[in-house]
Amino acid sequence: MKCAKCGTDNPDSKNVCTKCGNFLYSANPKNRHPLTAEQKSARRVARVKGATLGCLWTFLIVLGVFVFLGVIIFLLFRFVFPPDFIDFLAPAASSVFDTTS
Ligand SMILES: [Zn+2]
Repeated sequence: MKCAKCGTDNPDSKNVCTKCGNFLYSANPKNRHPLTAEQKSARRVARVKGATLGCLWTFLIVLGVFVFLGVIIFLLFRFVFPPDFIDFLAPAASSVFDTTS
């Protein structure tokens, strides 16, 4: 693909000129170079990969937040709230957070 600005011959894989950085393809969709079948499949694979990784990280972050909140709540009940408050909230749970022992 020849650069329209400086005339440098660029490899087909490039979207911008390697010499001057000019965009090689027009923003007009009619003038765009269509992707080859391999480029399309590579793009599809990259998208699925990105989505899978995104889901994994989202899952890990949500899980981490829940674990963190659980620890905070446990510590609050164990060390901060007085035992009679726990009795007031849930009488059966007072033995779990027994602060007298
Ligand atoms: Zn150029």
